[in-house]
Amino acid sequence: MATGRIIKALSGFYYVQSNEGVYACRGRGVLRNKKITPLVGDFVEFEVRNENEGYIMKVKDRSNELIRPPVANINQVCIVNAATSPDFNPLLLDRFLVLIESKHIQPIIFISKMDLATSEEKERVKEYQAAYRDIGYEVELLSSKESEWIYEVLPYFKDKVSVFAGQSGVGKSSLLNTLDPNLFLETAEISKSLGRGKHTTRHVELLTIGEGLVADTPGFSVLEFSDLETEDLGVCFPEIRRHMPDCKFRGCLHDKEPKCAVKAAVDDGEIAAFRYQHYLRFLEEIKTRKPRY
Ligand code: GDP
Ligand code: ZN
Repeated sequence: MATGRIIKALSGFYYVQSNEGVYACRGRGVLRNKKITPLVGDFVEFEVRNENEGYIMKVKDRSNELIRPPVANINQVCIVNAATSPDFNPLLLDRFLVLIESKHIQPIIFISKMDLATSEEKERVKEYQAAYRDIGYEVELLSSKESEWIYEVLPYFKDKVSVFAGQSGVGKSSLLNTLDPNLFLETAEISKSLGRGKHTTRHVELLTIGEGLVADTPGFSVLEFSDLETEDLGVCFPEIRRHMPDCKFRGCLHDKEPKCAVKAAVDDGEIAAFRYQHYLRFLEEIKTRKPRY
């Protein structure tokens, strides 16, 4: 039995990449009986039928999966935030970070459009870069109009499946096109010149970028904490996670509780005040969430 990874699903075929090349595979009945729908990103066992076709016999256990885009076994999410147009938005960045941390996926922060930033905007972004690096995140300042950063950034993709995330217009497609000059992903300009809204792909494909794979469709379009409980939120902030074992009360939510190690760390400046404010804001959001039936 051959093994490989699904890199594309289209019209009933799963394109499986193996050491021997790409095979267009159909799912065998065994999958349907077990109610398993193979996903892009899945590791599979398949039976080779001829030099470019086969049958998927088994889908291996997934480490995680996303619904939009439908991709399994994601290792990394690249959150793109622009330095300007739209303004750099740390609240939105933290929202993405929390959602990604809650799925136990590694985030990395790309700040785009540095070429458009004024010197004030550049200063502001660099201060945030330092703050996020202190927490332990990788933060790269980029511009899709330049390309000398490519060789510094390519290693982040090595042997991983990555998904880009970030609000529309921040430059996700442009960064990918710069990373690989052979790619022609649709950017805002292209859709404008074609006189239509940005193309929304119904299928998803994993593109080879350097020595890794990147989904051609951005993820995390839903930014609600619907799967998070109040007590799960702290662990999604690495710097809060580090201090919370020292809180006096088990189940401390680091809000009004006395002898809270997290609040002490905020007072000492070990935890950035803006991050703690965002934590409180998200906590409130989870508390006041409408119950789901
Ligand atoms: P997406 O929606 O996140 O994929 O964003 P796009 O890649 O479509 O970019 C949105 C707009 O910003 C397009 O008009 C791009 O040309 C422009 N843009 C993206 N990145 C940069 C950048 O680094 N510098 C400049 N000057 N413009 C950029
Ligand atoms: Zn606490």
